[in-house]
Amino acid sequence: MISAAEALRLIVERVPRLGTVTLSVRRAGGHALAGKLTAPADVPHFDNSAMDGYALTAADIREVPATLRVAGETAAGAAPGADLHPGEARRIMTGAPVPAGADTVVPHELTEEGGGPGGVRILRTLPKGANIRRTGSDIQKNSEVFGPGHVIRPFEQGVLASMGIACVTVHRLPSVCLMPTGDELEPGGKPLAPGKIRESNSTALGAMLRTEGCDVADAGIVPDDPALLATAIDAGLRRDMLITIGGVSAGTYDAMPRLFAEAGVERVFHRVNIKPGMPLWFGMKGEVPVFGLPGNPVSAVVTFSQFVRPALRRMAGWRDPAGRLTVRARLDAAIEKKDGKRHYVRGILENGGSGATVRPAGRQDSHAASVLARANCLIILPEEQTRFGLGDIVEVEPL
Ligand code: AMP
Ligand code: MG
Repeated sequence: MISAAEALRLIVERVPRLGTVTLSVRRAGGHALAGKLTAPADVPHFDNSAMDGYALTAADIREVPATLRVAGETAAGAAPGADLHPGEARRIMTGAPVPAGADTVVPHELTEEGGGPGGVRILRTLPKGANIRRTGSDIQKNSEVFGPGHVIRPFEQGVLASMGIACVTVHRLPSVCLMPTGDELEPGGKPLAPGKIRESNSTALGAMLRTEGCDVADAGIVPDDPALLATAIDAGLRRDMLITIGGVSAGTYDAMPRLFAEAGVERVFHRVNIKPGMPLWFGMKGEVPVFGLPGNPVSAVVTFSQFVRPALRRMAGWRDPAGRLTVRARLDAAIEKKDGKRHYVRGILENGGSGATVRPAGRQDSHAASVLARANCLIILPEEQTRFGLGDIVEVEPL
């Protein structure tokens, strides 16, 4: 059985990047850039004031208080106006262009009216260049602002707009077929017949897919009937990715691995040394990744978060598709495990008085979806260690 790290490595190696599209910056959020992005202009575009105050030359305020003649006013959006001469100060607003001849801005608070009509008294000396935002000090023209695979968040959208960029070329986001399987599954809305349960995984996983920006094609519940499953698999393979739920463990009706093979899907791995989610199946048909997720609700969500999400991000062109932000926290309760698997324990992470603390959220059964819903993190217990004592430091992945 392969390790989680090896499974992840195989996924990133095998899953291809999708093609590219050009989108308006406003619609490009959540996408990864297809190539590097070079600044078409300096930001700021011109030297401008960081404060409301007076633009002047530092040489004029070596000795303070200094009285200068007020030579007009420049508001944000106005042209720089006439050059400034020695002995003069220009009243200036935040964002307004600094006039030629000025090299410093003194904030309003460090000045007072005085020295006769049309005069201003500067109360403090400031170094040359103070309170001026220099041309190109944030972004230099022709520099690389973002590399290929950089993911566009609202902050990037703002920066792109600040450079006057209207459109960007990004990778497409996957269209994914999501297929719950099992004779016992019923949709919501009508009373449950004996032995049936509510189908719930496609609701949780559908939401996780949409969070990644995917288009979700819901295959509907497919019963454990090989002919119906085969037809549904063929239809699902027409999407960018196929995710089935259930039927990959060792039960009599767990037919998915055989049906994947019959549909021409090459198996890359089956079973990973993890808990929950050990029966996970992954394969490729041409360019289409296929995941067979185990059906237990916690197993399905955990394997999605650890293995499917990196595959989606790889398709979407992310620079680091398997990157995860984890934190280290102190265990508030001892934990013991009895096997050499990597465990993902549903936990509650809190800000303790002296740093982050974490404890299991409740029963760790893989059907206990409510414990997952009350958890805010996964506590990651590495394969080789079985006992984790009170106060031990563990790796935690916020959910
Ligand atoms: P399986 O992986 O098919 O052996 O299913 C494992 C367990 O998960 C069984 O108790 C199933 O009833 C349950 N299960 C499978 N698929 C779903 C689903 N889509 N929603 C809720 N429970 C499911
Ligand atoms: Mg089943």
